[in-house]
Amino acid sequence: MSKKTLCVTEQIYQYLLQDTVREPEILRRLREETATDEMARMQIAPEQGQFMTLLLHLMGARRCLEIGVYTGYSSLVTALSLPADGLLVACDLSEKWTAVARRYWQEGGVAGKIDLRLGPASETLDLLLAEGATESFDFAFIDADKRHYDHYYEQCLRLVRSGGLIAIDNALWGGSVADSSREDEETRAIRALNRKLRDDQRVDFSLVPIADGLALARKI
Ligand code: SAH
Ligand code: CA
Repeated sequence: MSKKTLCVTEQIYQYLLQDTVREPEILRRLREETATDEMARMQIAPEQGQFMTLLLHLMGARRCLEIGVYTGYSSLVTALSLPADGLLVACDLSEKWTAVARRYWQEGGVAGKIDLRLGPASETLDLLLAEGATESFDFAFIDADKRHYDHYYEQCLRLVRSGGLIAIDNALWGGSVADSSREDEETRAIRALNRKLRDDQRVDFSLVPIADGLALARKI
């Protein structure tokens, strides 16, 4: 019986990439274009994108939220996984980074499914709640500033329907969460949220150690 998660060595990771990852050409090009940016490590990994597509299809997701767009990789994955009448409300602060995203949404034929809201995500989510969007989303992906993760989680928990899924990126934060010498604000915020999710009876929960860790919380 296997009793622990296998440590993914470089050799195993290369195997996964070469023999199990399907990445549409447009996503590969976006990843390659973004790779020259010094913040490129913020982007989700291709195997994670593939996993998110699987989840979105499993759920039959139609209405999604994204908090943290950057140059658009995860939003493009999400929008490509939605039906033609699907919607992704995408939140970010950066005009510059989302200009790259918009170019790829256009090229991928999904621009019409994406409603980009530039501004602090907590304000956008409050606005959605005020507009009556409570419990109207199937899926939310949280991947913006880590210090506000708990706040975004609480807002998303109100915005997703019962049975809806909240996916939280960088839940392992490069391993810092497990390193007791790391006490910076971001590490502490992620560590606290992981613990809270474990004990949160409002959701089913699993932290999947894919890429930098993807915490999955399904609203009961
Ligand atoms: N999901 C993206 C990566 C997101 S990186 C991908 O996989 O490619 C984090 C993003 O969060 C950055 O683009 C940053 O501009 C945005 N961000 C940071 N603080 C924010 C805030 N308060 N409100 C909205 N977006 C924010
Ligand atoms: Ca991320």
